[in-house]
Amino acid sequence: MKTISLIVPCFNEEPTVELFYDTTETVFEKLNASHTEQYHPDYLFINDGSADKTLDVMRKLNAAHPDEVHYISFSRNFGKESAFAAGLANAHGDYVAVMDVDLQDPPELLLQMVDILEDPDQDYDVVGCVQTSRKQNPIRAFLSASFYKIINKMSKVQMKQNVRDYRLMSRKYVDAILQLPEYNRFSKGLFSWVGFKTKYLEYEGVPRAAGETSWSLIQLFEYSMEAIVDFSDVPLKMATFVGGLTFVLSIIGLFFVVIRALFFGGSVNGWASMVSIILFLSGVQLFSLGILGTYVGKIYLETKHRPKFVIAEKR
Ligand code: UDP
Ligand code: MG
Repeated sequence: MKTISLIVPCFNEEPTVELFYDTTETVFEKLNASHTEQYHPDYLFINDGSADKTLDVMRKLNAAHPDEVHYISFSRNFGKESAFAAGLANAHGDYVAVMDVDLQDPPELLLQMVDILEDPDQDYDVVGCVQTSRKQNPIRAFLSASFYKIINKMSKVQMKQNVRDYRLMSRKYVDAILQLPEYNRFSKGLFSWVGFKTKYLEYEGVPRAAGETSWSLIQLFEYSMEAIVDFSDVPLKMATFVGGLTFVLSIIGLFFVVIRALFFGGSVNGWASMVSIILFLSGVQLFSLGILGTYVGKIYLETKHRPKFVIAEKR
């Protein structure tokens, strides 16, 4: 018998938690009916500071199935990344899956995922999922495509577009992820950073079972900036490059001005161009300071060694 831990972050998901449990149970029945090896699900719901009755639903499920349903409830909303971290640290299964509670990560895929990891001929340690046609707002789709182009140019860690967070991992892989202690966690990047052989399954995107997505465009933008700062130092190099370039240009300009003054006499007009140059240079300086500040801010958060989450209730 093998245990599959299912880490399920939930933020205001009162209508979906039970539905998720029921659907996944039928998947496990199918899994166990079609395999000689038996798989035991170990649900680990993470209540990420929900304002609705999500926690009550979890308590109820745990009371009804004390052996297979567990939950961790945060003291406030810490974000999905912290929920992942809490789940991974507390999942004891032979395999560990992370999945959304809204059924956008179809539990049926677990059947294929388990087969891939169990196949002795191909030694995969992790199966990820790529969503093929999620009906997305075209602006969001364009922004997302641009983000992946940029991050893959800027970082040695390669990230694939449309990969969901949904994945099934071997114990070895989870233990590797647990070695990464950082406070600033961009899990897509951490997942590819640890390496190992990854198999990607493609599936057609499905709309949310109920409730609403909690991601606003601004949050997605911040998430992207996070990824770039966490996995690349290219912005710092860009600032250095722009600084170096303006320095060289200013030396050339200086020669030009001196030679012109010596041989052709000075000129008094041109204050407008002077003001533009001053404004341009202070803009570049402030921009570079901003980039620097972003990294320093990350270092600041990292050196405080605060926990990634606070658990209010665990069962
Ligand atoms: N989630 C969370 N904390 C948050 C935001 C979201 O735990 O601060 C959970 C949410 O309940 C869901 C999963 O993360 O199970 C993905 O969120 P959502 O479905 O809103 O995102 P999308 O599928 O649109 O990317
Ligand atoms: Mg979702």
